[in-house]
Order: sequence, then structure tokens, then C-alpha cells
Amino acid sequence: MASKAALQRMPTKTKIGPYNWNIQEDTQMAYEFGFWGYTVNKSKTIKIDDRQSDTELPQTFLHEILHAIGLSYEISSFGSHTVEEGNPTDDLDRIASALLMWIRDNPEAVKYLQSAE
Ligand SMILES: [Zn+2]
Repeated sequence: MASKAALQRMPTKTKIGPYNWNIQEDTQMAYEFGFWGYTVNKSKTIKIDDRQSDTELPQTFLHEILHAIGLSYEISSFGSHTVEEGNPTDDLDRIASALLMWIRDNPEAVKYLQSAE
């Protein structure tokens, strides 16, 4: 179960391209689907299950952001998952993990990207 502090740090809105996305906790649907989170394109909503660890939460958050980027920019390989031989882990999961660690390990580079013209 994510702590209240971890959940409160999580943004409730994000802008991706021309779209404003809402980010909400939604325990029931995520549980029923068996996911930690899911992304709904029609309503531009990201749902996050609060029954995951504090360390899993940012990973799920970024994973769902990548889905929303895929849907917003019509990057079909980011919109959903491919399952290879029953393994649900695919490139989107690996990119979310790699990008999260890169962002955490390189605050100067992130600052540069935010400020570059
Ligand atoms: Zn996913």
C-alpha cells in the first residue's frame, strides 16, 4: 500500500501535447484489470492503483505517462503492450525503468533539458 505522503506527491494533472490529462487513484478498476495503473484515451485520464509500494508508484506513474504520450502523439508502440511468449514485460516497461533511473541519476541534465531553448 502506497503511503499517503507518496500519493500526495504524485501530480494530479499533466499536459501532453495539446491535451490535459488527469491523474487519479482508482483502486477498483486497476484491481479488476490486474494492473498497477491504466490509461484511458477518451477521457484523457490516468488511473493509478494505490495498493502498490512507494517505490513502485513512480515507476507506474512514468509507465502510464509513456502510454499517454503514445496515445497523444499517435506512437502506436507506446499505446499498448505486446506480450511475447506470455511475458507481459516489453519495451515500454524497459523504457520507463531506464528513463526513471536516468532522470534520478542526472538532475543537471534534466535541468538542462527543461531550460534549453
Ligand atoms: Zn502499460
